[in-house]
Amino acid sequence: MSLTKYKAKRNFKDTPEPEAKSERSGKNRFVVQEHHATRLHYDFRMEAGGVLKSWAVPKGPSMNPKDKRLAVMTEDHPVKYLNFEGTIPEGNYGAGVMHIWDTGTYELEDEKSYKKALEAGKVKFKLHGEKLQGTFQLVKLKNSEKNEWLLIKSSDDFSVETAYDATKISHESSGVKKKPGPKCITLK
Ligand code: MN
Repeated sequence: MSLTKYKAKRNFKDTPEPEAKSERSGKNRFVVQEHHATRLHYDFRMEAGGVLKSWAVPKGPSMNPKDKRLAVMTEDHPVKYLNFEGTIPEGNYGAGVMHIWDTGTYELEDEKSYKKALEAGKVKFKLHGEKLQGTFQLVKLKNSEKNEWLLIKSSDDFSVETAYDATKISHESSGVKKKPGPKCITLK
């Protein structure tokens, strides 16, 4: 749980992203950001240990338990990133438009601490978001050099059996009250 990598990748004079400061809020919040970078992906972040543990999910999350969505763990982000939307200017790391696609709180499903669950390569949690609800798990792929995990919905009252495509669900339908964001265009 450290923001050293986050800091090293960014020039805060040139990006509107929050500075590298860890803070313990005592809350368990999560966010999914739709990130129109070189390739569209969804950043899934969970508050733990004063930072946001983060995964880049190329296809976005799914509410269908049959989908095993690749989730590549990325560097820890500051807690303030929970509220970040905007345009990361060209020439910066992750350049492109970022929108909040969903946000809410989570509960860990078992007694284990978050850190222990991460070390064990299996984090099971319940999400209370606008779009994402119910139980999910993140499972680390064995022998993965790139820190690859799978994000999988568990069958429950919230799961669906129909095809689920995050890219077809607008970030504007999140119900999250916010200022008008930037236009949803992809920078080259
Ligand atoms: Mn990203």
